[in-house]
Amino acid sequence: MLKKIYLLLLIFPLTCLGMELPKESVVAGGVVNVLLLEANKPAPVAHFLDKRVLVINDRGWWLAVVGIPLDTKAGRYDLKVKTAKKPMKFRITVKPKKYPEQHLTIKNKRMVNPNPVDLAKIKADRVILSKALSTWSKQAIIDFSFKPPVEGRLSSRFGLRRFFNKQEKNPHSGLDIAAPTGTKIKAPATAKVINTGSYYYSGNAVFLDHGQGLITGYFHLNKINVKIGDMVKQGDILGTVGSTGRVTGPHLHWNVYLNGTKVDPALFIAKDIPRLAAKNKKKKSKK
Ligand SMILES: [Zn+2]
Repeated sequence: MLKKIYLLLLIFPLTCLGMELPKESVVAGGVVNVLLLEANKPAPVAHFLDKRVLVINDRGWWLAVVGIPLDTKAGRYDLKVKTAKKPMKFRITVKPKKYPEQHLTIKNKRMVNPNPVDLAKIKADRVILSKALSTWSKQAIIDFSFKPPVEGRLSSRFGLRRFFNKQEKNPHSGLDIAAPTGTKIKAPATAKVINTGSYYYSGNAVFLDHGQGLITGYFHLNKINVKIGDMVKQGDILGTVGSTGRVTGPHLHWNVYLNGTKVDPALFIAKDIPRLAAKNKKKKSKK
């Protein structure tokens, strides 16, 4: 059976199947799409590193879209799958990847070394955010046809090892798109607003649930235009670009989560990345 699947994979790469899926990158912080079994069987339940994984029916096959945590070491891991009959395991080989370093200077020192009052706020934020991020909605159809939330300049990529005022902090967990304050931020695809708020590092933020643990986050907003429970479709205005929270200038920090882990948002808008990155080059050559 497995041999058959591998053979099929060789003959029909997933990109040829038609459905828009995130681009594969089997590295820490990447995404891997795994064909599980034919969809004439009941939907299987898949777990990766003990976290429930998104499973969709993609043209007659159950397919798992798996997020690989940024702190995953290169090596072999199992995707564990429960089916109506016997449990199955699919081997995922995570390749090594070295993300570049980025050194930033933050003027507001409390954003690098928070005081006790700030730490209490950060702790309270974490409780709210982890609750929002643990949202699991069962919907069978997931809209993966993402468009960039802001038409701007790709200023910082995902995964960069970050040093703020010479101190190493957490790696960059999202994609930064720089645009002037007030630029509209649009929903990349159909989703539901599950959280809005003002957080210490993220500033004004919005979180969208796209279904089965696919969640997106929008940080540092100037204004928020949606409320919890709103349904949005692609292009609806979530708010505007700002510089609230820990920033060096106005931009959107965009997070994408799969199975409870942050993955590279660029994989969801792969065909738009060259255009956004080209704007960055133009800006640099102007300096
Ligand atoms: Zn960022």
